[in-house]
Amino acid sequence: MTPNCRTIAAKCQCCQKPLTLEVDADYAAMNDPHSLIRMAACNRCADIHRALTDTSERIGKMCHQIWVVRKMKNGEERVSKLMPALTAQARSYARAFTRKHNQPEAWVLFDQAFPDLLAEKPEQWDKILRHYHVQARRHFQDCARHAADQTTNHPSTV
Ligand SMILES: [Zn+2]
Repeated sequence: MTPNCRTIAAKCQCCQKPLTLEVDADYAAMNDPHSLIRMAACNRCADIHRALTDTSERIGKMCHQIWVVRKMKNGEERVSKLMPALTAQARSYARAFTRKHNQPEAWVLFDQAFPDLLAEKPEQWDKILRHYHVQARRHFQDCARHAADQTTNHPSTV
């Protein structure tokens, strides 16, 4: 630690995990003008955030490509060739979204209808992703409720 640094206790803005930040002492004295301390994220959450941003960018680019090639000769055939890659991106997106919400891997909400809808309405890809968020959150709640029911129905002997 250099003499001009101060160690500050902060917490991850996503998962609330405690973090230790080393901040320039002058900066710290200015009451965090760039929200660097308030907006800090742990490595895990920063990685997840990057994965979500990267995959959504790729999905946006692929949807644009689908929109373009569909107007070409043999358009649907060209679109179907792009589907495996789009499906893979949509699956990665679903996994990253699940990790972001600290849900178990088994609860990932994904089926082929998701990339199929993106291909069907490529110009609405960002709206489709937002709709996915709503559905996935509801799905996590259902999974949690179901898991709780299981515990109630089969109480473990204490
Ligand atoms: Zn975190």
